[in-house]
Amino acid sequence: MTSPIRHITVIPGDGIGQEVVDAALQILKAASAPINWTICHAGEKVFKSGIETGVPQETLDSIKETKVVLKGPLTTPVGYGERSANVFLRKAFGLFANIRPVKQYPNIPSLFKNMPIDLVVVRENIEDLYAGIEYYHQPGIAQSIKLISEYGCNTINTFAFEYAKQTNRKSLHCATKANILKTTEGMMKRSFETLSEQYSQVEAKHIIIDNCAHQLVINPSQFEMIVTTNMNGDIISDLTSGLVGGLGIAPSANIGREHAMFEAVHGAAPDIAGQDKANPTAMILSAIMMCRYIGLEKLADTIENALALTFQQNKMTGDLTQDQPLSTNEFTKSVIENLGDRAVNFQPSSFKSIQMPQIKKEKVNRGSCHGVDIIIISDTPYLNLKDQLDRIAGDYSFSPVKLSNRGKLIESEETEQIIPQWFCRFSTKENQEITNNRITELLDEVSKSYHWVQCEKLFNF
Ligand code: NAD
Repeated sequence: MTSPIRHITVIPGDGIGQEVVDAALQILKAASAPINWTICHAGEKVFKSGIETGVPQETLDSIKETKVVLKGPLTTPVGYGERSANVFLRKAFGLFANIRPVKQYPNIPSLFKNMPIDLVVVRENIEDLYAGIEYYHQPGIAQSIKLISEYGCNTINTFAFEYAKQTNRKSLHCATKANILKTTEGMMKRSFETLSEQYSQVEAKHIIIDNCAHQLVINPSQFEMIVTTNMNGDIISDLTSGLVGGLGIAPSANIGREHAMFEAVHGAAPDIAGQDKANPTAMILSAIMMCRYIGLEKLADTIENALALTFQQNKMTGDLTQDQPLSTNEFTKSVIENLGDRAVNFQPSSFKSIQMPQIKKEKVNRGSCHGVDIIIISDTPYLNLKDQLDRIAGDYSFSPVKLSNRGKLIESEETEQIIPQWFCRFSTKENQEITNNRITELLDEVSKSYHWVQCEKLFNF
């Protein structure tokens, strides 16, 4: 029985994007993939045409319809437009999970080539510092918000447990910085530990992210899967790519509830663009993940075998070998020639579309407010500041104010290491609830003497 034709959006992207996407499409065509491609644009030229997001409406419409995208790398503009068209696409389609498989392929040079490495990094893709909530409090003092929700943690942790269960992986590590960031990273850890009770078939282990980086280099074979928050995941997934040969062979999938986007981990590589030198493997492996996701497992196995066999024949691009390196086109032709043949002792990868249960969203819980942190910009010496703010606190029935500078509680006059941004904590006596009116009055009083830039309510739940 022939498979029905799937319609898929393809974005060639910038730099080497066109070359590596062409390679993947040629191989899929030669393997008779039942796919109809809609070619769309995003990235540098789109930014330059004045579209702030880097993604035109036609591209968004196409993805809404096809639900699946194969995407080349997109250049991130410096100094104009959005932060990144990639980040925009991930957010626009709720692609909450970034999956980066890390697998040894035959003959690929790496420091770890003799170790059995077959692990998957699952990175939360929407929240954390990458929510992009950043402010200047004055030139030279900027603040970024690490936003973590229980919904986001439960979603990514559930996805990771389901992935482990549905692809027969026995163990799952959750890597966090919960020892320092007890509220945000701690939430990820607590969510993981609570959910682990529903997945007794998966051995669930928590690991501190810095130790995880260390263990990955000391003994990578101990890991089968790692789930982690966005920024941790960004860093360790590049580290794990390096364990098995580098960016040229690292694929990824961005998965949402309804949409999915498959792309190489590497960027647009402007230094080698247009030279027929780029390694198309990462893009070919991303296309293989896409085939598995849409249910074309046999076709995926055929292409992955042809790719592995090409490496077994010691045919590689210049990023992997200096011994008669192949061009992008020559390498692609070799993979096509190997279609239908099996690589020796090679086990193809096991990615698939994951069935996800619904995740409950938090209900609104207003808690009770018992104080405020008022952030002021001031170069008043500590003792004067403390004296004046304590007087205001007393007048408005607050406890003596606590002053912190760069996260450190200051209790005596210090000039070293002090910057002119102060977190001034006004707490009610005996933790009484505070009304909005009282906060407004307090702010009015503080603003008579100081330039305040932010006010954060403090809650008990
Ligand atoms: P990069 O990944 O483009 O390049 C880093 C180095 O790796 C370069 O020396 C490059 O030649 C080499 N390299 C990368 N891919 C290769 C391949 N397939 N074959 C052979 N060598 C390869 O990283 P960068 O230079 O930091 O970024 C360039 C641009 O790409 C930036 O605008 C960046 O924002 C963007 N970028 C996009 C994505 C994406 O679209 N997902 C990811 C990362 C970077």
